[in-house]
Amino acid sequence: MKGYAGKLLRVNLSNGKVSKEEISDSMKRDFLGGRGFAIKLLWDEVKKVDPLSEKNKIIFATGPLSGQLLPSAGKMVIASKSPLTGGYGDGNIGTMASVHLRKAGYDVVVLEGKSEKPSYLLIEDENIRIADATDLWGRNTFEAQDLLEKKYGRNSGILLIGPAGENQIRISTVMSQKGRAGGRPGMGAVMGSKNLKALVIKGTGNVSNFDDAKLKELSKKGHDEIKAKENYDFWMKQGTMQAFEWCNENACLPTYNFREGVFDFSKEMDGYVLEKLHTDRKGCPMCNMQCGHIIKDSNGQPAELDYENVGMLGPNIGLKSLPQVALLNRMADEWGLDTISLGSGIGFVMEASEKGLIPEQVKWGDFETAQKLVVEIGKGEGLGKLVCGGVKAASESLGKGSQKWAMHVKGLEISAYNCHACPGMALSFGTSPIGAHHKDAWVIAWEVSTDRFSYNKAKVEKLIEFQRIRGGFFESATVCRLPWVEVSFGIHWYPEYLEAITGERRTWEDLYTMGDRIYNLIRAYWKREIPEFGRKWDSPPDRWFEEPHSQGKMKGMKVDREKYEQMLSWYYELRGWDQNGIPREGTLDALGLRGVSKEIIG
Ligand code: SF4
Repeated sequence: MKGYAGKLLRVNLSNGKVSKEEISDSMKRDFLGGRGFAIKLLWDEVKKVDPLSEKNKIIFATGPLSGQLLPSAGKMVIASKSPLTGGYGDGNIGTMASVHLRKAGYDVVVLEGKSEKPSYLLIEDENIRIADATDLWGRNTFEAQDLLEKKYGRNSGILLIGPAGENQIRISTVMSQKGRAGGRPGMGAVMGSKNLKALVIKGTGNVSNFDDAKLKELSKKGHDEIKAKENYDFWMKQGTMQAFEWCNENACLPTYNFREGVFDFSKEMDGYVLEKLHTDRKGCPMCNMQCGHIIKDSNGQPAELDYENVGMLGPNIGLKSLPQVALLNRMADEWGLDTISLGSGIGFVMEASEKGLIPEQVKWGDFETAQKLVVEIGKGEGLGKLVCGGVKAASESLGKGSQKWAMHVKGLEISAYNCHACPGMALSFGTSPIGAHHKDAWVIAWEVSTDRFSYNKAKVEKLIEFQRIRGGFFESATVCRLPWVEVSFGIHWYPEYLEAITGERRTWEDLYTMGDRIYNLIRAYWKREIPEFGRKWDSPPDRWFEEPHSQGKMKGMKVDREKYEQMLSWYYELRGWDQNGIPREGTLDALGLRGVSKEIIG
């Protein structure tokens, strides 16, 4: 099939063996790329292993849209069995590594085994080499990026980990280009466990598409349409930070460890303040609506901000200064720590201190201690030791009722949307296939603007539709969803892109079925790896059910547990799963996943 490089590159870091395998047309049709390829490979090859052992594998997967001259198409997916959750873990990242990987002639890289000493993988077209990383080990991601760029050129595709990944901290991510991050469920720790500091990718070829002339025409139309959109200028001013004022206005801002939905100091740090402080912009390749806003942090260094890191390292820990948030964010990027889980961990420590559950005094908004905590979490030392494995593990070790306000689902920390008054979004976090992340179904904007307080079946149907498009299609294509989400870029373009690239026409109905196949296999993976996995894994923390907001226009609001459970039951029914959330044999078989059922039942 056209539009793919067609090869999977497999490297065993233990013995240095390199192989290049053909990717079958059925794999391309059934799983498309990115997340689809990743779950199929993990299902087939990574069974019942310790995620931080050399038996685990880490996958870097692109899709047919990756690296094409199409809007926001510079993404790839990094996936592995997660050391944070024990289930399926992945994340997308916008990076030149995606562009170069396809130019080098590969759609996917699978890394297995463990290097004896610190190493990095060099991919230069046909030439593959495991190189010594002794000089890079211990360096932060900015320093290591600089050293690798000096050696291989500024335009090289570089994926790397910071000291947190080296220390196998379970909330560490993979970084690229000093600010792009991906792989929230501990993908950095998996690289660290393999003694792998980085991948450096340089490709000089081109993917052969079905109709390049058509693709070029579609690409131009797409980029032009985005720029002509009504919201484009405002997006360029604020990017995802426009969500900050929206969330505060609608009482969805994560405030004081998700206790409240509004922040008294929101006006001091919202998107309009960002506009004034903005000095530069960064983003992913192929994107004409780049969303990384650079400001000077409180030390005067450039640091990148977006809504998620401001929400989690700002109101969630009681911090009200954007330059201070920017410094924490820069530190997290240098250490290679996930900013959402980091903000949740710091919030957990602050609340534990407030409640007198730990002897240390850490007040809300304590910037000095927050900086110290970033370092301690990156090292897994001191107070950082409590939360460096995520808030689920922290609450299990601390006890004393802290499980009720450890803000995670399935072990992954909740991203920056408080759902006391958004039951549909609560269900989205509950059913997200990697744990509580918003990327699969950011249903909150639709919910708030329609029937916010209801718990009806239509809401569940909408949620599944979003999961099919966002978590199924975009994560597998792989291309950024934000043009569609944020400036209403036409969704109808994507089947046209696929046709020009592959030569095959696929309707949205086909793509929904493909998305369902991916979701079902991910679900089966969780069940196979965690035999006790079931319904209770799909529930958000007790805080949202039991502790109503004490202020703001949603004062008194909380999620109704009984009605949430009813929505969850509908969700299972619509997905063809039993009432414990396990895919039925007939559902799996109808999606072409024969034999999967036998591995998860009994
Ligand atoms: S919109 Fe932002 S996240 Fe999406 S491709 Fe552009 S820079 Fe990357």
